[in-house]
Amino acid sequence: MYTDLKLYIDGQWLGADNRKSEDVINPATGKVLAKLPHASKADLDAALAAADKAFGPWSRTSAYDRSNLLRKAAMLMRERADHIARVQTQEQGKPFPESRIEVMTSADITDWYAEEGRRAYGRIVPGRMKGTRQIVVQEPIGVAAAFTPWNFPTLTPIRKIAGALAAGCTLIIKASEEVPGGCVELVKCFADAGVPAGVLNLVFGVPAEVSEHIIPSPIIKKVSFTGSVPVGKHLAAMAARGMKRATMELGGHSPVLVFDDADPIKAADTIAAFKYRNAGQVCISPTRFYVQEKNYAKFVERFVEYAKGLTLGDGLEKETKMGPLANPRRLDAMESFVNDAKARGGKIATGGNRHGNQGFFFEPTVITDIPDDSKIMTEEPFGPLAPIVPFKTLDEVIERANSLPFGLASYAFTTSTATANAVGDGIQAGMVGINSVAVSTPETPFGGVKDSGYGSEGGIEGLQAYLNTKFISQA
Ligand code: NAD
Repeated sequence: MYTDLKLYIDGQWLGADNRKSEDVINPATGKVLAKLPHASKADLDAALAAADKAFGPWSRTSAYDRSNLLRKAAMLMRERADHIARVQTQEQGKPFPESRIEVMTSADITDWYAEEGRRAYGRIVPGRMKGTRQIVVQEPIGVAAAFTPWNFPTLTPIRKIAGALAAGCTLIIKASEEVPGGCVELVKCFADAGVPAGVLNLVFGVPAEVSEHIIPSPIIKKVSFTGSVPVGKHLAAMAARGMKRATMELGGHSPVLVFDDADPIKAADTIAAFKYRNAGQVCISPTRFYVQEKNYAKFVERFVEYAKGLTLGDGLEKETKMGPLANPRRLDAMESFVNDAKARGGKIATGGNRHGNQGFFFEPTVITDIPDDSKIMTEEPFGPLAPIVPFKTLDEVIERANSLPFGLASYAFTTSTATANAVGDGIQAGMVGINSVAVSTPETPFGGVKDSGYGSEGGIEGLQAYLNTKFISQA
C-alpha cells in the first residue's frame, strides 16, 4: 500500500544496495512503513554532474515543449491522486481528504508553472541614441538545489520542482526523510511524463551532510529551502558565501485579529477549521488569536466547541478529522508549550494532553488567559494549540501582531472597510487574509518577511525566483 522508496539520479531509480538507510515511520501507529536509502557522497556528485550536464539542453528546450512535459506530469498526478494521497497520509498522518486536496493542488501548481513558463517575457526599452536597441531578457539561473520539510510531502516539493523546471533550470531536491514517499511519487510523474534524465534528481540523506555537500558546489546557482528559521539562516549564509540566489520559506506565528464588528461565530468556524488543518503543522497556520472585547467570550465558546468536535484518528479512517502529529518531536514540543502556559496562569479551555496510547496524537487545544510574553505567544507552536487573548483597540492589536520577529501570514475578520485597509497596510507579513484564509494559491505569491524569510513561491514571482535578468545593449 505504501511505496518503494528510491533515489532518482540521472534518470535512474536507485535502491538500497550498499547504501545507508533509515526507517520511515507511520505517525498514526509508530510502526515502520519502509526503509529509505541515503545518497552516498558519490551519489550526490553523480546528481550534481547529471543536473549540470542536463542544464544546457533543458534550458535550450523551448518553453512550449517544457510546458507540455509539465502538463503531462500534472495529468499523471491527477490520475494517481488516490494512491499518492494514501502514501502521503501513511507517512505524514494528515486525513486522506486533506492529502488528496494537496495532491490535486500540486497538479494545479504544475499547470500554473507550465503556463507561466511560456510567459517569461523580456522587454525592449527605448534607447537614448537613434538606432540602438536595449533588450531585457530572462534566463534560467542554472542548477538549483531544493530542501523541503515534513509537513507537506507533495505541496512544498512541487512548488520548487515545477518552478525550477518551467523556468528552464535543472534541480536536485532533497525531500524530507520523514515523509519521502510523496516526493518519490511526484518525481515518478515527471519521469513518466518524459522529462529527460538529469533534469530532476531526488536524493535523501542526513540533511546537514547533504546540504553541506551540495550548496557550496560551484555547479549550484540557486538554493530554495522551506523549514525552520534557524536552519534557514544557516543555509542562507551558506548560499551567500557562494553568492547564490536563495529563496527562504521559514516559520511564522500568524496573528488573527477578530474585531467587534465581525460575526464571532462565522469567524470562529472559519479560522478554527483552518487552525486544525494538518494538526496545526502549517507555516501559515493561525497561531495567535486576538479577539476584541465584545466578541471575546462568544468567539472562545464557539472555537472550543469546534475543537471538542474533532475526531482524532488514523488519517486513512473515514471519520478522522485530525490526524497525529508527524513526529515525536512535535509531541514533546506541545507538552512544553502547555506546561509553560499553565505555569504562567493560562487556562486550558479544552485539550492539553496527548491522546491514545499509540502514534503521536495530541488533543486539539485552546488556551486562554495567557500573557503576550509566554512561550506559546512568542514561539511558533507548529501543532494543534490555539491561544486566544482579548484586545481593546485597532492600534494596540496591530502593534501586538507586529511585535514578533516573524512575518509570514496574518488574518483579520471585520466588516469595516477602514479597519480592513488599516490591517492590510499595517501588518508586517507576506500574506494578509481579510475575512478569508485563501492566502496560498498557485497564482499568487507565497512568502514571508522578517525572520520568516525572503523570496516568493507561486505567482509570477515564483517563476522569477528561477530566472536571472540580462540586459543586452545593441548599437
Ligand atoms: P529542524 O529545524 O531540524 O528541521 C526543519 C527542516 O529542515 C526539516 O525538514 C529538516 O530535514 C531540515 N533540515 C534540518 N537541518 C538541515 C540542514 N542542515 N540542511 C538542510 N536541511 C535541514 O526541526 P524539525 O523538528 O524538523 O522542525 C521544527 C520546526 O521547524 C517546526 O517547529 C517549525 O517551526 C519549523 N518548520 C517549518 C516548516 C515550514 O513550512 N516553514 C516546515 C517544517 C518545520
